[in-house]
Amino acid sequence: MNAPAGFALPFPPAADERRAGGTLTVDLSAIAQNYALLRRRAAPAAVAGVVKADAYGLGVAEVAPALFRAGCRHFFVAHLEEALVLRPLLSEAATIAVLTGPLPGTEDDFAACDLVPVINGPAQAESWAACARRLGRRLDAILQVDSGMSRFGLSAEETRRLSDDAATLDALKLQLVMSHLACADDPGHPANAAQRDDFNRLRMLFPGVPASLAASSGIFLGRQYGFDMVRPGAALYGISPQPGANPMLPVVRLEGRVVQVRTVDAGAGIGYGHTAHAGTTTRLATVAVGYADGYLRSASNHGAAWFGEHRLPQVGRISMDSAVFDVSALGPDELGPGALVELIGPHQPVDAVAAEAGTIGYEILTSLGRRFHRRYVGG
Ligand SMILES: *Cc1c(COP(=O)(O)O)cnc(C)c1O
Repeated sequence: MNAPAGFALPFPPAADERRAGGTLTVDLSAIAQNYALLRRRAAPAAVAGVVKADAYGLGVAEVAPALFRAGCRHFFVAHLEEALVLRPLLSEAATIAVLTGPLPGTEDDFAACDLVPVINGPAQAESWAACARRLGRRLDAILQVDSGMSRFGLSAEETRRLSDDAATLDALKLQLVMSHLACADDPGHPANAAQRDDFNRLRMLFPGVPASLAASSGIFLGRQYGFDMVRPGAALYGISPQPGANPMLPVVRLEGRVVQVRTVDAGAGIGYGHTAHAGTTTRLATVAVGYADGYLRSASNHGAAWFGEHRLPQVGRISMDSAVFDVSALGPDELGPGALVELIGPHQPVDAVAAEAGTIGYEILTSLGRRFHRRYVGG
């Protein structure tokens, strides 16, 4: 784990689990099995691994090598800085693509570190081609076209113009033409087929160059969305790629540590703002996980913890460093200081926890805090 200069966690994860407010367990073998499942599903398309945002909060230093061991050879990150962290973690057999592409003045870093920029507009295409001419060699590039999301990529008109621009194209080695689906998690949405057809027309302008459209959800829209490469992130990490039953294995378990248990009288106000009150004499457990750890405040009075087979409703506002749970369902000596309760796990997978917070599993994982003791299993 050789993080280059410039990359530092706010502080390192707690080394001893008793020092931390909770334990985050990441199952690397589940990630590898999810990779294998997506590969079967997407075949014959190649399957890249998207490891942006510290592998969706799970730790790129552990996750990316695990994906490589599972056979993944194409990796995507969002930013140059993330790519510079990733480069020394992977063998040279791995290609690393950067979704935002080179921002002005960063072209030489891309070339020096053998990174493949995703080119999102005519100006990036020109500056990357100019860099190639300066270095006297053709440079790898991925071309992103906007097939209908209005976020990244060349417009249809810009794509046509570039396809006629021999001077720019001669400086580049196009590895891939790609685009991204806006509504893939909704299989019935008409934008899916419209984007696929528009993408197909645009990629034809670059004969012989492989194409990529689908991320996690797109893989499950069917073969016509697979093209030559798919780019899952979320599904690798156990987030459901489609409505209904989740075909992916769970990857994350989050447990919070009980700090104290108290009994309050009927009518007692609980937490900031007294948004909850005890209806009767109630036993409450204070758990050392709060919104600073990614236990989102928007889940206040909605979420729950699990202890054994008991659901323990969360009550009152979630604080920065703690949250309170109603543990009246447990016997008086069943739960005490130091015990761990499940916040994400078999009883409530990440998507269910997200729904209670009014968000999506992606935001839950990428919000997971840095203070947990982190445990990697199955590596
Ligand atoms: C984040 C991202 C992905 C991965 O998306 P998931 O939904 O997590 O699978 C793929 N492609 C692009 C362009 C992305 O921004």
